[in-house]
Amino acid sequence: MNIILLGPPGAGKGTQAEKLVAERGMIQLSTGDMLRAAKTSGTEMGKKVAAVMDAGELVTDEIVIGLIEEKLEGEQGGGFIFDGFPRTLAQADALGALLEKHGASLDAVIELAVNDEVLVTRILGRAAEAVAAGGTARADDNEESLKTRLMAYYKQTSPLIGYYHAKGALQSVDGLGAIDEVAVAIAGVLDA
Ligand code: AMP
Repeated sequence: MNIILLGPPGAGKGTQAEKLVAERGMIQLSTGDMLRAAKTSGTEMGKKVAAVMDAGELVTDEIVIGLIEEKLEGEQGGGFIFDGFPRTLAQADALGALLEKHGASLDAVIELAVNDEVLVTRILGRAAEAVAAGGTARADDNEESLKTRLMAYYKQTSPLIGYYHAKGALQSVDGLGAIDEVAVAIAGVLDA
C-alpha cells in the first residue's frame, strides 16, 4: 500500500508517518527530512537549498522529484508513506509517472485537515520544546518562515486536494484531535 499524507506544516504528517512506520512497517519518505540531511551533511545540493528552506519557500520540483526517484529506485516492494511530497501539481504528476514506472499505484491520499491557529501553536511549541530539551529548533520553525510556509501551502500545495479528489483518491481526516485519535482515523481509512 502506498499513501500520501497531505496537509499544511504542523498538521501532523511526520508524527502520523512515524506511527505508521512503527505499527505497520511502512516506509516513510519525507522530502523535508532528506533535504535537512543534505543541508546538515553539506552536500552541494544541501548548500543550494539551505537558504530557500530556512525562509520557508519550496525548493525546486527538479530537486525533490530527483530525491524521490532515487529512493524509489533503491527500495523494493512498496508500503511507502509520502510525507511532505508532492507539494506541487508538477510533483504530483511526476509521482504518478514514477509509481507507474515501478508497477506500483497510489492507494490513498489522506488529507489531515486542521486550522491555522493550531498550526502556529504546534510549530512554535515544537520549537520551544526542542530548545527546552537542550537542542536547537528547526531553522524554519519561527514565526516569519512559518508565514511563508503557510502561504506556500495554500498557493502551491492545496490545489492537490482538488487534484486527488478528482482522481477519486482523496480521504480527509480530522487532524485536530489527539495524536492517537488521528491515528485511529487514519487506520480506519487504510483498513476500509
Ligand atoms: P517539511 O519538513 O516537509 O516541512 O519541509 C521543510 C522544507 O523543505 C519546506 O519548507 C521546503 O523548503 C522543503 N521541502 C520539503 N519537501 C518539499 C517538496 N516536496 N517540494 C519543495 N520543497 C520541499
